[in-house]
Amino acid sequence: MAGVVFSRVRKEFSGFTAVQGLDLTIEEGEFVSLLGPSGCGKTTTLRMLAGLEFPTSGDIRIGDRVVNDLAPGERDIAMVFQSYALYPHMTVGRNMEYPLKKRGLSKTERKAKVAKAAEMLQLTELLDRKPRQLSGGQQQRVALGRALVRDPQVFLLDEPLSNLDAKLRSYMRAELVELHARLGRTMVYVTHDQLEAMTMSSRIAIMLAGELQQFAPPQEVYRAPANRFVASFIGTPSMNLLDGQISCGDAGWQFTGPGLSLPVPALNDDAEQGAACLGVRPEHVHFGEGDLKARVQLVEQTGHENIVVLDLAGGGRLTGRTPSSQLLHMGDDINYRIDSTQAHIFGPGDTGPRWNAVS
Ligand code: ATP
Repeated sequence: MAGVVFSRVRKEFSGFTAVQGLDLTIEEGEFVSLLGPSGCGKTTTLRMLAGLEFPTSGDIRIGDRVVNDLAPGERDIAMVFQSYALYPHMTVGRNMEYPLKKRGLSKTERKAKVAKAAEMLQLTELLDRKPRQLSGGQQQRVALGRALVRDPQVFLLDEPLSNLDAKLRSYMRAELVELHARLGRTMVYVTHDQLEAMTMSSRIAIMLAGELQQFAPPQEVYRAPANRFVASFIGTPSMNLLDGQISCGDAGWQFTGPGLSLPVPALNDDAEQGAACLGVRPEHVHFGEGDLKARVQLVEQTGHENIVVLDLAGGGRLTGRTPSSQLLHMGDDINYRIDSTQAHIFGPGDTGPRWNAVS
């Protein structure tokens, strides 16, 4: 088994910097997701690890080897692509066997490895079919199987579930988690889907414009986002982010924004009075209590809960969630409370850092 280390890795494409000075250490056996919006550099990062792109500067290690100058075939990795990249004229069995044939394994060894991987992925019954005779989910499993037979040190997966429908995606997420637990191999997974990253990863590396914003376990990224961008990217419905001002008086720090003013937890030494952003998760907005006032703008029923959007007096909007038993209607004037012990204060700007410690 092997971990992966990126040290000050930078990638430029004719003057454009796609990845900027990336430092990232992935431990042996971890499942790490590279997460971020389109164009943030996650695929370029994965392709550099695969040997399909070469870093402009910096080092990449797999285990104790610097792999910068090694061809993909020498890196002991296997990659699964979004497109599956199966050979249409070959059966499932031949598709899975192909990388082993290229490596010169005997027919007996090849058959044994394919049979084992097929059993693990429930493909045994399908070995004689051609890819066009398979569903999307089955094709994806064959692509995984082809990676599995190689028994690589590191699996690289580039948005492997994005061509599947929602139900199958959720099923395959669980399958991947189980596969990872069984194999114990290092897996690096590229996605722009925060739910995939949250549900599967031991740690998530969140990127924006080629820069790493936070690298932490899912719960930490959710509870203690490093900055405003991470806060907005993780969670559904997303965190409320209200622009306003913070000031420090005898009673401590206070946030004043559109239609609300509230005390906020102690801020760290970097905090400056003036422009700031209040971040509140929807579950920390409580309806029918407290002395803040707003009008219900929208109630979305999801079944087990309602998503409620409030119009604040000063022109802002705030989203909360309530049990479906708590009846609220559009147009209702209500009282609400924000659990300020759970609120975040971010400095100004898209990557404005969090200024409060979160317990
Ligand atoms: P997506 O989710 O859309 O695949 P991504 O986060 O994986 O996005 P990358 O594919 O890594 O992003 O691309 C990062 C940036 O580098 C983008 O602005 C992209 O246009 C640029 N880029 C990627 N490959 C090349 C290339 N071969 N030549 C020039 N620019 C490139």
